[in-house]
Amino acid sequence: MSTTAPRPESTGSVTDELVTANQEYARKFTDPGMDARPVRRVAVVACMDARLDLHAALGLRLGDCHTIRNAGGVITDDTIRSLTISQRALGTRSVVLIHHTGCGLLDLTEDFRHELELEVGQRPSWAVESFKDIDQDVRQSLARVRTSPFLPHRDDVRGFVFDVTTGLLREVG
Ligand SMILES: [Zn+2]
Repeated sequence: MSTTAPRPESTGSVTDELVTANQEYARKFTDPGMDARPVRRVAVVACMDARLDLHAALGLRLGDCHTIRNAGGVITDDTIRSLTISQRALGTRSVVLIHHTGCGLLDLTEDFRHELELEVGQRPSWAVESFKDIDQDVRQSLARVRTSPFLPHRDDVRGFVFDVTTGLLREVG
C-alpha cells in the first residue's frame, strides 16, 4: 500500500472504509503460524502520532515486537502494565522508547486537565503528561522504566527522538 496513493471518494464512515480494507487484506492473508511471543524479544513504546510508521522506521516485521502506543509515548502505570506482561508472560527483554519532534503534547500543559474539570465537572484521574523539553521527557520515561520493580529486564532500555521531517532517530542518553 502506498501512503501517497489517492483514496477513492467515499460518503460512508471511515470505519466502513477500514472494514472494507480489512476484507481485501483477509482475502490475501495467509496464517503466518506465529507464536504470541515477539521474535526479536523487544517492546517498543512510542507516541500514537500518525506520522510515525514504527515498523517501517525500525525495520520491523510482523511478529517481531510488542508495540505500546499512547499520546506522547509516555510511561504511565498502564504502559508499565503492558511492559510487565510483555516481559514476564511473553518473553521480551529489550525496551525501546520513541518520542518525536512536533509532538502534540508539546502544545499542552497540565491546564488541559484543569480546563477539562471545569467543563465536565469531573477531574480526570490521569495526568496529561505534557512536556516542554522532549529530551527531558525521554529521560523521564527511561527513568520510569529503569526503576520499575515489576520489570525483570531493565538492562537494555534505550530512548530516542524520531524526527518527523527526516525519518531519523536520535538517541537520548
Ligand atoms: Zn506525539
